[in-house]
Amino acid sequence: MPTRAGASLVTTLLTDEPAALLRFRYGTEPSFDAAPSWLYEGMAEAFRRGAARLAVAGDDPWLLSHEDQEKVSRVNRATSKAYRPALELIARFETNWTIVPSATPAWAAAVFPNLPKDEALARLWEHIFSASRINHVDPVTAWKEHDANLHRRANHLNERRYSALHFRGPETDLRVGLADDHLWLGGGMTARNGLYCIANIPTEEVFTTPHKDRVEGYVTSTKPLSYKGTMIENIRVKFEGGRIVQAGASRGGEVLQRMIETDEGARRLGEVALVPHSSPIASSGLLFLNTLFDENAACHIALGHSYSSCFRGGAGLTQDQLASQGANSSLIHVDWMIGSNRMDVDAITAAGDSVPLMRAGEWV
Ligand code: ZN
Ligand code: ZN
Repeated sequence: MPTRAGASLVTTLLTDEPAALLRFRYGTEPSFDAAPSWLYEGMAEAFRRGAARLAVAGDDPWLLSHEDQEKVSRVNRATSKAYRPALELIARFETNWTIVPSATPAWAAAVFPNLPKDEALARLWEHIFSASRINHVDPVTAWKEHDANLHRRANHLNERRYSALHFRGPETDLRVGLADDHLWLGGGMTARNGLYCIANIPTEEVFTTPHKDRVEGYVTSTKPLSYKGTMIENIRVKFEGGRIVQAGASRGGEVLQRMIETDEGARRLGEVALVPHSSPIASSGLLFLNTLFDENAACHIALGHSYSSCFRGGAGLTQDQLASQGANSSLIHVDWMIGSNRMDVDAITAAGDSVPLMRAGEWV
């Protein structure tokens, strides 16, 4: 593998879609609860020794849609569990990492089902380039400016120390309490190995940790969620004391139900993120069927695990300390979109006053 950018050694790990499908066709019953933990332990060991991570995402969003969903969710569960040693280091930014997209024929065909294959692929690349600001005359400068803007937003929110957010829109009235000593993040950050990295390209969000016990009200998704090969549409959930007490969807409801039954933390929030409706991804009007894009098209919430990096001094806190400040823990972290051009967001101060943050999907 060439290392023109200076990497000393590049190790490529591939996921093979036909092989993944064969597993579901021919695997034996107990095999659906198995995962290659040795592989993820090895990845964790590599990160501990200073390896960086560059993930290239271009999965076929429909790959597993015709497989037995019960088996799919067992495999997802086993994989999430085995992945944990690596994921913890990634979530703590122990090393520098980035996820970037790459158009593949299967992904392009899912996004543009009515176009000829070549055209679909070319169109998807165009959208990737414009969403990722590659079309700018000087993309590096464009990224530096965009990154500085995201940092300014996050800093502003951090100075205010709001105690909750209130989302109001069609079929939504949700109050999201923020965790004690939460920290807003956005754009790039310096990993614990001292290297600066932008973890997601593209990225448009500023995000933080909700308090796992302080979420009240109901919320409806504004875009379909493509979750591990299944589409979940019009998710509607009701929270009481931070916990989902009612959940439904117009499509993929069973998958949603299984997802929130993964563990106790899967029914609670681990992230809340603000994204203006005018972001280049949202204005493309396209559903990319890929979280890297779709979560950056709208305000979103995530069910499941929270990021310790979203706490002041989070890296030095134990799991128990984080939990007592409101951090959620779970095997899953699933983002879904709740924002739109009809969404208003208020911040609630410690004294209980409302401050307008977003109106009709845009920053005030
Ligand atoms: Zn997010
Ligand atoms: Zn997320």
